[in-house]
Amino acid sequence: MKIPKTADIAGVVNKIAPITLAEAWDNPGLQVGDPAAEVTRIMVALDPTPDVIDSALKASCQLLVTHHPLIFKPLKSITTATSNGSSIQKAIKGGLSIIAMHTNYDIASGGLNDLLASKIGLSKCAPLKVTTTLGLVKLVVFVPGDQLEHLRAALFPYAAAEGKYRDCSFAAGGIGTFTPLEGAAPFTGTVGTLAKVPEERLELLIERTQLPRAVRALLAAHPYEEPAFDLYPLLNEGEKLGIGRIGRLAEPTTLAEYVERLRIILSAPALRYVGDPTARISKVALCSGSGASLLHDAARSGADLLVTGDVKYHEARDAEDLGLALIDAGHFPTEIIMVDEITERLGRALLAAGYTECQVEACRTESDPFRI
Ligand SMILES: [Zn+2]
Repeated sequence: MKIPKTADIAGVVNKIAPITLAEAWDNPGLQVGDPAAEVTRIMVALDPTPDVIDSALKASCQLLVTHHPLIFKPLKSITTATSNGSSIQKAIKGGLSIIAMHTNYDIASGGLNDLLASKIGLSKCAPLKVTTTLGLVKLVVFVPGDQLEHLRAALFPYAAAEGKYRDCSFAAGGIGTFTPLEGAAPFTGTVGTLAKVPEERLELLIERTQLPRAVRALLAAHPYEEPAFDLYPLLNEGEKLGIGRIGRLAEPTTLAEYVERLRIILSAPALRYVGDPTARISKVALCSGSGASLLHDAARSGADLLVTGDVKYHEARDAEDLGLALIDAGHFPTEIIMVDEITERLGRALLAAGYTECQVEACRTESDPFRI
């Protein structure tokens, strides 16, 4: 029976939404709690509201994973005089850790914006505004031929995908030389004698963010006391990631029909929109939560429509001026979809990691603060 600690789950969350992708102003990650505490029950929610924290404690959870961070700006005090301070105290007293996955989850490949895009029928999606281009490193390691497959398998989880291809590597044989010095315990060869050993040169592309993990895996899997490996920085650009998405509908439709379709898909009581109801919609940009600041990016990208939330009056006027249709689908409806998705993905990831005794449940007490 393997029970994860808060830090283990933070590691799993970081694979879904790497913290390095977050916007500079954001504050995702472990908000409160004990990295060493054991976790057998996790709740997933959109907002760390007092009600949600109560629900998590009532359900005997030791960890709450939310989209919006509980702590955003540096705190000057933590007292019960504020809702935020009360929540922090309640969580700590109740042994509840809180992890937020915010803009890092919005931006991540397979994150919230990709989830929203697939729910609203978009394919061939690209980021609407690129925030990060993943840096790549070529990892080259020399290994005896009979150990090649073992090492390759250990490194594959950290190898960068090349387009639609994963597990990419290259190997070629040669002769390695070394003289073990006094005190060495060589895997092959003898102390003081020049060894000439048939070796394979194994090459893989690694994303920079994965490099520390890849090197740790290499050192753990390589049979040599002192594995020889090289890291080459590359000019090749890796995957482009960013805020929002732009993609295409399978079939063009009208703005009025698409508004009604979204209302049903997102279980929204009503949607506000800007534009001619009969306008033809084919290329759609989106940004979950609050993305009206991307109006110009959407127009420049040739989108017919931007789907987002939190739209203000003058932003609606700007959309009119740009000739861009705009749907305000609400902050809550475009983001609450993360709860079921993360509950399911986290549950699967924990099982895959062998944590069979840790349950993940969705918070069912949240509702949109806006009512119609
Ligand atoms: Zn949000």
